[in-house]
Amino acid sequence: MDPVDALTETAFLLERELAPGFKVKAFRRAAAVAGELPAEELAARASDGRLARTKGIGDRSLEIVLQALEGRVPDYLAALRARTGEKLGPGAKALREQLRGDLHAHSDWSDGTTDIPSMAAAARALGHEYLALTDHSPSLKIAHGLTPERLEAELEVVAAVNAEGDEGFRLLAGIEVDILADGALDQESALLDRLDVVVASVHSKLRDEKGPMTARMLAAIRSGRADVLGHCTGRLVQGSRGTRPQSEFDADAVFAACADAGVAVEINSRPERQDPPDELIALALEAGCLFSIDSDAHAPGHLGFIDLGAERAAAAGIPPERIVTTWPLEQLLAWTAR
Ligand SMILES: [Zn+2]
Ligand SMILES: [Zn+2]
Repeated sequence: MDPVDALTETAFLLERELAPGFKVKAFRRAAAVAGELPAEELAARASDGRLARTKGIGDRSLEIVLQALEGRVPDYLAALRARTGEKLGPGAKALREQLRGDLHAHSDWSDGTTDIPSMAAAARALGHEYLALTDHSPSLKIAHGLTPERLEAELEVVAAVNAEGDEGFRLLAGIEVDILADGALDQESALLDRLDVVVASVHSKLRDEKGPMTARMLAAIRSGRADVLGHCTGRLVQGSRGTRPQSEFDADAVFAACADAGVAVEINSRPERQDPPDELIALALEAGCLFSIDSDAHAPGHLGFIDLGAERAAAAGIPPERIVTTWPLEQLLAWTAR
């Protein structure tokens, strides 16, 4: 197999299983170093030992390159594939195959680890037809939320990525906009109107009482500008940030408003979020809501999390046509422009 592809996939799968960042970085760096060499030059340097002395190529990366050059899947990558892939049940597998894209992902413009073109490339490699770039909004300072000026600049990068790309993939201009304490959306309305996709999420005052939290969410849902309600309970069930209980709100009222406004309830696929919980997915299904299975990726490998979302959606019996990320791009954009 192609050595650069092998290194890239290794980084991707390690990231997906939430391996330490330095490990992922090492393989991505090795892929960049190897990728700069013409294929024949890489092979020559690998065989005469020069590659082993190249900065950015560690022992494991070298092993991967050598085994890939033998025309096989490197052992390390094969083991990773076995660990991370093909665990889906039949229902989830069928649903996963119907997913065409992802409406929630971050780049290093806010708190993601990776530049925008690399995120787009990873989404395309995964077979996506579209990925919404949804970096954070200004009030989320801890995550370097984008000011209006920076969002405008980011939109130019999105346009450039699309101009260079092919017909089969589109990077959608989006935002994960904070739902502020008063229910307002944390970005200029005129800018929100220019975006393809608006994911609205609560990130602050997660312990708000039920009344105010419900009012806050309803205001955002009824704003006419939100397309997706992101990780609605804010819970954390595992991971390095510890756990956090779900926030309290009137779920019947919130999901009825989502169904009424055509706002999709996000199934946030991140392993530490798994949001909403099963009983709320059931309630939203009953209420007639649309759903969006999103990765909330902060790195390329995280785009693979949607397998977990597909597993949960299939288990909940959500019909694929109610999941907006199974829709073709044209249908999706007609919906977000509603
Ligand atoms: Zn969020
Ligand atoms: Zn996010």
